[in-house]
Amino acid sequence: MMQKVAILGAPVDGVTLEEAVERAAAFVRDGGPHQVLTLNPEYLYRALREPHLMEIVRRASLVTADGVGIVWAARVLGRHVPERVTGIDLMTALAARAARERWRVFLLGASPGVADAAAAKLAARFPGFRVAGTHHGYFAPEDEPELLQKIKAARPDILFVALGAPKQEVWIAQNLDALRVPVVMGVGGSFDVLAGRVRRAPAVLRRLHLEWLGRLLYEPRRWRRMLVLPKFVWIVLVACLRGFLCRRK
Ligand code: UDP
Repeated sequence: MMQKVAILGAPVDGVTLEEAVERAAAFVRDGGPHQVLTLNPEYLYRALREPHLMEIVRRASLVTADGVGIVWAARVLGRHVPERVTGIDLMTALAARAARERWRVFLLGASPGVADAAAAKLAARFPGFRVAGTHHGYFAPEDEPELLQKIKAARPDILFVALGAPKQEVWIAQNLDALRVPVVMGVGGSFDVLAGRVRRAPAVLRRLHLEWLGRLLYEPRRWRRMLVLPKFVWIVLVACLRGFLCRRK
């Protein structure tokens, strides 16, 4: 039995990518609605200040460590998380499994056309991949009842939601029971990546393992997000000293 480890009050499942896929497969067999959340330092940092965001983490059926920041925090606090399981990696692995199992997958989010393009890429890559439906992520509140109806009517086994964090997590938590989809997971900008809509860093930066620097150059708003990291590191170290928990089981 995989166990939850508490990182700054957030319960995280210490699972590998493979184990995460197995857990999701069990959710599909089980049939009940489950929220899957890939937790990154930015989300956790906000959740420390916004209790409703922490509550969503606590209620989620599966929480993975999205990013080395969370894996590192676990280690410093004396917990063990085997590896990072990012949104795009888990989405891709679940798409592969879905194609084999003939599960139906719905893609919701991103700009008009992007979810379709991402679905087409997945279908081309994984023979047997079944698209239950797609919808863009810029819907008005008054269009939501119709959208929920559309998703329910499509009867997907998995729903990927790409509205960006934490908007997608809040939306999923609010609609999970009404949708009755076995696996619902937020995937951030993954549709854009799959559809090839985000520019990759120049080859020279990629060769130097500086792709992240390229992303900062193209998407300056990421600077602000990155500034959370040192603050996150500080909070983890303070928690560690306070609890004398450093590297103790
Ligand atoms: N998005 C959306 N509806 C919105 C806001 C954002 O569909 O109201 C989409 C946006 O087009 C993009 C994704 O959500 O595809 C957010 O990507 P980002 O890389 O910012 O996600 P993060 O990594 O911050 O979760």
